[in-house]
Amino acid sequence: MTENTDAVTAAETADHPLVELSHVEKHFGELHVLKDINLKVGKGEVLVIIGPSGSGKSTLCRTINRLESIDSGDIRIDGQPLPQEGKELTKLRAEVGMVFQSFNLFAHKTILDNVTLAPRKVRKIPKAEAEKEAMELLARVGVDSQANKLPAQLSGGQQQRVAIARSLAMHPKVMLFDEPTSALDPEMINEVLDVMVDLAKEDMTMIVVTHEMGFARQVADRVVFMADGEILEQGTPDEFFSHPKTERARDFLSKIL
Ligand code: ADP
Ligand code: MG
Repeated sequence: MTENTDAVTAAETADHPLVELSHVEKHFGELHVLKDINLKVGKGEVLVIIGPSGSGKSTLCRTINRLESIDSGDIRIDGQPLPQEGKELTKLRAEVGMVFQSFNLFAHKTILDNVTLAPRKVRKIPKAEAEKEAMELLARVGVDSQANKLPAQLSGGQQQRVAIARSLAMHPKVMLFDEPTSALDPEMINEVLDVMVDLAKEDMTMIVVTHEMGFARQVADRVVFMADGEILEQGTPDEFFSHPKTERARDFLSKIL
């Protein structure tokens, strides 16, 4: 494998996607939740996934860092198939950062500890070094002044920014965001979206499930529309929002816009 460089051409990206799902199938019992999902995400690309509730968006995200198994098909990160267990799986979870709707911080640990825990345990970084980097990350998302507090002492928007810093501390190759602003009070949505916009500008590879259509239009390189476990269409934000091809997408957009 070559090192990641900025000199990756578009053609190379197409040949060597950072994330690649091929013919992915998943059932929950009788429910066919992912149907022949084929998706490639290039290095530095921002992919936004939208679609009605229950269409399989969260399940799709969860398969990418193997929080969910798949029935058949293939998922690769940087050309490597997903490991099934053990140390390799722990490493994968570090490479694929995930930010959920609920912030999932450790309630009884300080903000600083929340951010340093995994780097110290998984990346074996010495405490002082982990704390230095954590403080830089907390500053980057604008919550460094909160470092010694517990999560419950922070607003939802601040907690979600800590969750992003915590993922970044693992130096992920790709970040998954599953409706990161859906649980937030409206006045806190932008402070989280702003951090995500900055990450996108810094060429982070991102897969974002969101109902924030302003963000999708502004930041997405590509929009994927899912319904009933299928990718029904994908295109640039302008193509998708201005000229949706399917009736399902037109119907969805008419309700949400
Ligand atoms: P979305 O994120 O698009 O709203 P989900 O991926 O959460 O959709 O869910 C897709 C479908 O799978 C829904 O019908 C949901 O009820 C079902 N589902 C999700 N997780 C599970 C699970 N662990 N067990 C059984 N059914 C599930
Ligand atoms: Mg969901």
